[in-house]
Amino acid sequence: MKRKTANSAAVCPCGSGQLYASCCGRYHRGQPVPSAEALMRSRYSAFVLGDEGYLRQSWAAENLPDEPLLDAAVKWLGLSILSTEAGGEQDQTGVVTFIARYKINGRAGRMQESSRFVREQGLWRYLDGDVGDVATS
Ligand SMILES: [Zn+2]
Repeated sequence: MKRKTANSAAVCPCGSGQLYASCCGRYHRGQPVPSAEALMRSRYSAFVLGDEGYLRQSWAAENLPDEPLLDAAVKWLGLSILSTEAGGEQDQTGVVTFIARYKINGRAGRMQESSRFVREQGLWRYLDGDVGDVATS
């Protein structure tokens, strides 16, 4: 899988409205992620940018899938964070509920997931998630 080049001066794919370099780009370069929501956003951006290495590294070791994480047919169009529970500086776990919009083979879809995050050796990792309604249009 060829990795797309992230433009540091571009707006971050996660939809924060900040520049990539000062948003998810920091975490893709290895800076520790401060919260579950920031990890969620940086993982979404990694999906957009095709950064499989970051997706694997930010996945809890016990649940890391064997199969490839990226599907070249999926084009991610946007992320909306609906709610967050815990996942802050003083927490060991957190839940982030979000909607991600995508297109696959020209068909638009959206997925809703409540993702669970945990700290491993102090660093936030994606544990697993409950996928909700998947609506296509
Ligand atoms: Zn971002």
